[in-house]
Amino acid sequence: MLDQSAILALAEAPSDAPLESARPSRAEAEAAVRTLIRWAGDAPEREGLRDTPARVVRAYEEWFDGYARDPAAILGRRFERGGYDDYVLLRDIPVRSVCEHHMAAIEGVAHVAYLPGERVVGISKLARLVDAYARRLQIQERLTAEIADTLQSALQPRGVAVVIRASHGCMTTRGVSTHGTSMETRRLLGEFSREPWRSDIFAALSA
Ligand SMILES: [Zn+2]
Repeated sequence: MLDQSAILALAEAPSDAPLESARPSRAEAEAAVRTLIRWAGDAPEREGLRDTPARVVRAYEEWFDGYARDPAAILGRRFERGGYDDYVLLRDIPVRSVCEHHMAAIEGVAHVAYLPGERVVGISKLARLVDAYARRLQIQERLTAEIADTLQSALQPRGVAVVIRASHGCMTTRGVSTHGTSMETRRLLGEFSREPWRSDIFAALSA
């Protein structure tokens, strides 16, 4: 635990500057987009591109607003399960993310299931949880794990299953033609990782 003076010392030390202060200004971000337009071979001063840097920077605020969200807090409000003792599954949650290797689009769907312990959450919260992690620079494997692990630690259900199927723009638009390919990742925790629930949840997820 840091005391107040230690926190102040950290705040003043340039080498320990928090991430927040490393954030560029909007003007710097727009300048970076102009650089990339020139790198692509076009002229940022051309009429059609003149407002593009400002638009791209605004789009980034939307595509990456997951950094400003607290995924565990999304699951903060819980309800009694009311005697219900089977799984809860939300299917086909849209996944729109950006791959951290190429900053290309990842698009697909997530299926998120849990086996309630004492409590359940509002079903829309599962979609918001997916979105909070998707709107960051990601790899699909970590995205899958983060969704499952947060659901497990915040809600303490008896089981969690997350499956994501997505296509990756960095693969479908570059090099060898891989149009139409998709990648599948999954994470099973608790009772979903063992029989009899394992077969049951698989059948449900692939239905
Ligand atoms: Zn990529």
